[in-house]
Amino acid sequence: MQAEIIAVGSEMLTPHRQDTNSLYLTAGLNDLGVTVAFKTIVGDNLQHLTSAARTALSRADIVIFSGGLGPTEDDLTREAAAAALGLPLRSDPAVIEAIENRFAARKIAMAPNNRKQADVIEGATILANINGSAPGQFLDTTHDGNRRIVLLLPGPPSELKPLFDQAVKPRLAATLPPNFLARRMLRMALIPESQVDARTAPIYQQYTDVETTILAGSGEIQLHFVCTKPTLAEAQARVDELVGRIEAEMQDDIFSSQGESLEEIVLLMLGMRHLTLAAAESCTGGLVAERLTEVPGSSRTFLGGAVVYTDALKTTFAGVPPDLVATHGAISEPVTRALAEGIRARTGASLGVAITGIAGPTRGTGLDAEKPIGLVYIALADGHQTRIKQLNIVGDRDRIRLWASQHALELIRRALL
Ligand code: ATP
Ligand code: MG
Repeated sequence: MQAEIIAVGSEMLTPHRQDTNSLYLTAGLNDLGVTVAFKTIVGDNLQHLTSAARTALSRADIVIFSGGLGPTEDDLTREAAAAALGLPLRSDPAVIEAIENRFAARKIAMAPNNRKQADVIEGATILANINGSAPGQFLDTTHDGNRRIVLLLPGPPSELKPLFDQAVKPRLAATLPPNFLARRMLRMALIPESQVDARTAPIYQQYTDVETTILAGSGEIQLHFVCTKPTLAEAQARVDELVGRIEAEMQDDIFSSQGESLEEIVLLMLGMRHLTLAAAESCTGGLVAERLTEVPGSSRTFLGGAVVYTDALKTTFAGVPPDLVATHGAISEPVTRALAEGIRARTGASLGVAITGIAGPTRGTGLDAEKPIGLVYIALADGHQTRIKQLNIVGDRDRIRLWASQHALELIRRALL
């Protein structure tokens, strides 16, 4: 079963408002084993709306409209859906009464145009909306020889969400063939998307019944797997089998197979080994500390550290010998090494991590002036050895800082494997 969502409202065709209802609806539909094939956003225009409705009815089993059910002139969803279906609208006295009662309870007179909210597509079931005046509509019909389920839902998210959960989901579940959806996600850090695809495509292409999606961004690759089967056990087994084979191929490149973030995994691995961590950060300004402390319970393993932006503070807080900075510049392997070892010694942590770099757009000063923007050093000291990574990160300031933090966390994870 495939669905199309039509978000109705001219405001969503401006830069000021976004359609978020479709995200909520998509999650709910996926739970029922329904995939969303198309999403359309249409302004409050009868002709455009009717044409979008016709197109949707021609290509999707389930067509869901959100919005445009209000009482005003520009609320046209009922008219457009009825026109596209070739069905008449009939005024439902019970709905008029319900709307009248709603107004009476608030001691205000019902405006005549609220009556149009009682127009129901012939054959549709009314879905009572306790949070607003416009009821939803559910129609299970045949259109051009195909079975079509058509849903009209109010636009305000506070009305749409409860109506979808309480009235639509049970109806769809009862109407649709049993369908269960299993999903898994594998996460990898800092590997090129092309490399992940080259290694995994020969495997996932054998699973035509599992939908595989590769998402890349922020120094991370995610592999998403979705499978729909008549039973949850079948769907789960199929996804698990594919995930198992991908895990065997990618091995330690995968940092998480249950959805955990890189920082959660690093903290988990430190905790299991009864190790503690401290950080001395220059160009990332505390980003690594921020990411780690966002995880609840991180204080058991992450002791803290220092943002050592100036050369003087690198000495004061992490004991970096001043002559080291004078000889090599702050953004250098020896200084970063000394920072990691220094913050480890000062805090008593088992591991010390340090980051220096030029995030740009301005260049470094003194000895660092000639060094390229994007040059980043990361060091990890454990008391026996100090690992060091030199990077040339491409991008703007935000990207360089984010990737530097990602590299630091990944260096810790790899060291703990
Ligand atoms: P009403 O009776 O409130 O007019 P309606 O069904 O006509 O209900 P709209 O007028 O289309 O709904 O939308 C009302 C408000 O709901 C919009 O101003 C917007 O803030 C929000 N809204 C509508 N559609 C969406 C959407 N797809 N995603 C997020 N918010 C939406
Ligand atoms: Mg409206």
